[in-house]
Amino acid sequence: MRKINSGTFVSKYWGYLLLLVVLGGWFRWGFDPALLAGLSVLSGLWIFFQAPGWCGAKTRGDDYCRNNARGLLMGCHLRQHKWQKLMMLAPASWRRLGRLLVKNPITLINCGAGLATIGSLIVSVIDLILDH
Ligand SMILES: [Zn+2]
Repeated sequence: MRKINSGTFVSKYWGYLLLLVVLGGWFRWGFDPALLAGLSVLSGLWIFFQAPGWCGAKTRGDDYCRNNARGLLMGCHLRQHKWQKLMMLAPASWRRLGRLLVKNPITLINCGAGLATIGSLIVSVIDLILDH
């Protein structure tokens, strides 16, 4: 049986742990809105640019790339795939991006986590504005 190195695990998936802290800060510990906004930004950056997952860029054979990639918005080692995914930030491609993100369970989890951090950021900024 393969032993899981907890140090490597934490360094690889710290963004999910941070998201749990953000959620705990919202629903359990009552963190300050400024702290929640900061943690949400950090968690969002991890999800969009660091979270381990599959590339998912569209290939020539009408299939999706299965190479390992980092972050929802970053492609694999192929430059064209990096561009293809970054170009999906353009509003006309958002629906296509949505379909691409739900192609496999890992990108679906990352997508949900990304939406949670964006929601957390928006609500904490609104809360911060209303407090002052
Ligand atoms: Zn790729």
